[in-house]
Amino acid sequence: EEDTALLRGWEDGDPEPEEAPAPPVLAVVGRPNVGKSTLVNRIIGRREAVVEDVPGVTRDRVSYESEWGGKTFTVVDTGGWEHDAKGIHQRVAEQAERAVDVADAVLFVVDATVGATSTDEAVVKLLRRKGRPVLLVANKVDDISQEADAASLWGLGLGQPFPVSAVHGRGTGDLLDAAMDALPEVTAYGGLIPRGGPRRVALLGRPNVGKSSLLNQLAGSDRVVVDETAGTTRDPVDELVELGGRMWRFVDTAGIRRRQHMAHGSDYYASLRTQSALDKAEVAVVLLEASEVLSEQDVRILQLVLDSGRAVVLAFNKWDLMDEDRRTYLEREIDRDLAHVAWAPRVNLSAKTGWHKDRLVPALDTALDSWDTRIPTGKLNAFLGELVAAHPHPVRGGKQPRILFATQPSTQPPRIVLFTTGFLEPGYRRFIIRRLRETFGFEGSPIELGMRVRE
Ligand code: GDP
Ligand code: GDP
Repeated sequence: EEDTALLRGWEDGDPEPEEAPAPPVLAVVGRPNVGKSTLVNRIIGRREAVVEDVPGVTRDRVSYESEWGGKTFTVVDTGGWEHDAKGIHQRVAEQAERAVDVADAVLFVVDATVGATSTDEAVVKLLRRKGRPVLLVANKVDDISQEADAASLWGLGLGQPFPVSAVHGRGTGDLLDAAMDALPEVTAYGGLIPRGGPRRVALLGRPNVGKSSLLNQLAGSDRVVVDETAGTTRDPVDELVELGGRMWRFVDTAGIRRRQHMAHGSDYYASLRTQSALDKAEVAVVLLEASEVLSEQDVRILQLVLDSGRAVVLAFNKWDLMDEDRRTYLEREIDRDLAHVAWAPRVNLSAKTGWHKDRLVPALDTALDSWDTRIPTGKLNAFLGELVAAHPHPVRGGKQPRILFATQPSTQPPRIVLFTTGFLEPGYRRFIIRRLRETFGFEGSPIELGMRVRE
């Protein structure tokens, strides 16, 4: 008991705090029209970005809860602080100042296609004075050819610019990784909260595939803890379930439990729920009905999962309804329609009878381990050296792009960046990914392979 008190920074006799600690604040500042709102939408994972094409349009200042790499934070969009009639210079400076006063770290956004303006320089001075950690975001770097624009922003004296395309999502993962490092650890009651916490799982699949049956089967009746996530209005319920001796957080389970809705729910609502659950999850269990032919909706849900970059486990449910014919056909279906997720662990189970439900945890562990994997730079380059020596990139038009160097800047999912002397063909990139999987496993995790072309 004493340990617990120390951990949370409680003093003897202190009343137990009632409020959850506030997450750290990340403010997004910059001139109008550099893409702040677009970036915020990207960060919070909202698909329909509410972005005005008119410069300086008045919007309310808004803050959102968000999460990255297991860390919760509040992101403040200052896009709307532009409603008085002062000169642009002063307005931007004031806006930045107010944001910085509430922030633990700042994303300072500059339009790389325009370069640093005198307004930007004024903001830099202010940011320096305030002494908060600042990350310089070079936005609108939509492709490699614009990276040079970003590099010129070193001149602002804020260190390395992060080349990003808020519209396309390019580079935002690296930016967020760095932002999370810049934010303080969430402090609770003046003390530190241990890192980690239960891993977050989304149970996904079309209506009637057996999601709620599986949740009930896994949770039993008395181990479920319903956790109302603060500050969210959509499907706010997570359930903490003990499996294999550890707690797991099943996210957005309200939509699963609300079966009468889901059973008649349209494809549209199923997609919405899938998306919102994915935003919060680290790993997705995609339920498919083993006894029925793969549907278009299954394929769409699977695609959302793949696009999300989360770890993946495929669960073939209703195995108790299988017969030999269907089984043979299913194998063929898997080879034909699920070849692009051949890397995901598969579990055959029955949510109804509980058969094989114990296979789920090992599959989740495998997928999450892969998702967390970082290959050391030396190992990665040794692997690529051998691979390229044995299978060089084909010569095209008298040229042969070479891979100079590779590194893995981030995990969750693993992202590998190749520095090359030319553009690598998609076929060759797929070949590299295939070999990465053969060599390092990565079972259950997508792999992102990026390229930086150096002339
Ligand atoms: P804010 O005023 O700083 O919040 O800027 P907005 O987010 O409203 O964006 C201003 C304009 O820039 C909009 O037309 C966006 O579509 C565009 N924009 C934002 N980010 C990018 C980007 O990464 N690339 C490109 N090409 N355009 C962008
Ligand atoms: P959800 O809409 O995805 O949550 O699906 P439910 O869990 O509500 O299941 C839909 C129907 O399928 C219910 O009638 C369940 O009893 C049935 N069901 C779920 N899992 C299985 C299973 O493994 N075997 C069989 N035979 N039926 C199942």
